[in-house]
Order: sequence, then structure tokens, then C-alpha cells
Amino acid sequence: MKQWIDRLRWERTLRPEEFRQLLTECDAELLRYINKQAQEVSLLHFGNKIYIRGLIEISNCCRNNCYYCGIRKGNPNIERYRLTQESILDCCKQGYESGFRTFVLQGGEDPVLTDDKIERIVTNIRQEYPDCAITLSLGEKSRNTYERFFKAGANRYLLRHETYNEAHYQQLHPAEMSGKRRLQCLQDLKDIGYQTGTGIMVGSPGQTVEDIIEDILFIERLRPEMIGIGPFLPHHDTPFAQCPSGTVAQTVLLLSIFRLMHPSALIPATTALATLASDGRERGILAGANVVMPNLSPREERKKYELYNDKASLGAESAEGLIALQKQLNAIGYEISTERGDFIQYTTDYTDFHRLRMNRNKSVKIRVICGENEKRENI
Ligand code: SF4
Repeated sequence: MKQWIDRLRWERTLRPEEFRQLLTECDAELLRYINKQAQEVSLLHFGNKIYIRGLIEISNCCRNNCYYCGIRKGNPNIERYRLTQESILDCCKQGYESGFRTFVLQGGEDPVLTDDKIERIVTNIRQEYPDCAITLSLGEKSRNTYERFFKAGANRYLLRHETYNEAHYQQLHPAEMSGKRRLQCLQDLKDIGYQTGTGIMVGSPGQTVEDIIEDILFIERLRPEMIGIGPFLPHHDTPFAQCPSGTVAQTVLLLSIFRLMHPSALIPATTALATLASDGRERGILAGANVVMPNLSPREERKKYELYNDKASLGAESAEGLIALQKQLNAIGYEISTERGDFIQYTTDYTDFHRLRMNRNKSVKIRVICGENEKRENI
């Protein structure tokens, strides 16, 4: 199967039956191999720099009841909170001083946080921090609402589709939610011009290999700028409390598959992966991830945003733990980048890449096309 992994790297796709075999028969040696290939691709595009995004969890109130989620409406056992605009701006201020140049405003679909309020918050952040990217992760909205937020200054939007297969989607969500609606939201976001992120939970209840293949092919068609791949982790107050977690191995395998298929994509080593294993973040980066999202939320609220059991929000998962994060990254040969880290579409010249492979000890000119601008870089 190594030849298939090589082909995945150079042709950026495989046939469904090849994906099936890779997903079901990948042993430890093959996993090391594909992780290494994906890491090389990530290094070629991003060097050893890891972008940091400051995560601000603005509300744990939600009108939805997704069966896997700890802050679902039907959970009576959590203390609900909602940050004020002042508190959000304060988080941004602290984050900016620490070097963050992307703020991610994440929250449930909170009816109290109306479009007007979010628009005002985005406008104020945009005015105060014109050099920063604003990412929203606030669930499904109308196209008109997405357009308003975009015009107010939001640049990116994260909305995991969770699963492309409608029957599986219905296993994970109550009847009033629809996979089709979510896919439409993703298309709207792309059309409006957001850098758009989607992704899946690995090992979610009822997920089959066929579902994962559908997800791979959907993401191949959508070509999102950001791809979030994290393991499913159960939460004790949900209908899936007794379901087993996804595995680190399957998560980093998929992470590498997506890195090989989408070399320019921004792919986080997720908090869920860092929660599942003490070395989860490092394993994600060594499998091709190039982003981490430390938590900038007020410390007293973090525990209340418990999407799954024991969600990490302190230490290297926190904004105040940047030194610890830097040390962890240094230990595996990486360092924090405080650049904004926007998506750049690299159209690489394969001949040059092959030459690079053949001439590892020489400085090789790589032709890189970034949007409309073409430049040459030494690698
Ligand atoms: S996953 Fe998102 S939309 Fe679903 S219940 Fe949780 S916060 Fe709400």
C-alpha cells in the first residue's frame, strides 16, 4: 500500500476502494509512513511554523440538541454563560498582547446572541484590530446573516459537517436538524468568500468506513481552506455517554490523508486529540497539522464549555500556557508563528517537487503561485 500513499501524495486522490483498504488495513508501519509523507508536505508548504489561533468561547447556550455534545440544550447539568461584548474585547486585547493575530469566536447557536449583537462585536474587533483575522464558529445561519458578518469584517468561518451521509447525520442529530441544510451553509460560506472550514469527528457513534470515504470525497469536492479532524469523545451527560472514543491512530491517519490531498489547507492539531492522548497535539503535527488553537476564554468560564469529558483548556491548551506550548513544539522541531496565517493556494510545479526529492542536499527553486501573484521561493 506504500505505492498508494505515494500516489496520494503526488496525485492527491485515490479510488474509493483504495481509500477503503487504506482505512481498514493500515498497520503501525504504514501509519508511520503516511504520517511522514504528510509531515513532509506540511513542512514544504509551511516550514516548521505552527500558526496559533486564540479561541474565545463566547456562549455555551445552544438551541440544538446534537446527541454528542455536552452543551446541548437538553443537558440540565451545566451552568450556562454568555460573554459580554466587553469581556470578548478584553480576551482579544489579552490575546493581541500575547501575539495572537487570529481570534476565533466560537459558541452554540444561542438565540440571545442575535445577528445584530454578533455584527456589532465583529465590527468592534475589526476596528480595534485591523491586522487580525476574525474567525466565527457559531453554527448554521441564513446566507443573509453570513453576508452581514462578512461585511462587518469576519474573514473565516468554521462549520464541521460531521458526516456527509444523511442517515448517519440523523443518528447523530435530532430530526429537526438536517445534513443537507449544513451542506448548504458550507456552500453559502464559500460563495460569500469566507475562508471556510469543515471536518468530522473520527469514530463517532455509527460511523462506518463507507461514511468516512464519503466524507473524504465530499471534502475533496468542497476544497475547504480549513479542515478540522478530531476524535469523537463522549460526554457523560449525553445519549452517547457510554460510546467508545475515537482512536488516536485513526485520527492521525485521516489527518495525514487530508494533508496529502489538500497540501495548502490549514489543519489544526485539535484540542480533542490533545485531550485523548498526552502527546496528541505533537502526534497531530507530526501527521501534517499546522495549526493549534489555545484557549483565550476567561479562565472561570472554560470548564463550562465542556463539549466532551475532560476537555483540555489549561496548560499548553491555554493562551497563558504559550511558553509550555512553545517548549512542546520545540521538542519536536517546530515553533509558534504569530503571523495571521491566512490560507494561500499553492499551485506547485510537480517537476520541481520531484527535483526537490532528488536533490535534498541542494537549495532548490520551487515555483509557487499564490493566488494571482507568482513568486519563487528557496526551500
Ligand atoms: S454541537 Fe454545536 S449546534 Fe450541536 S448542540 Fe453542541 S453547540 Fe449546539
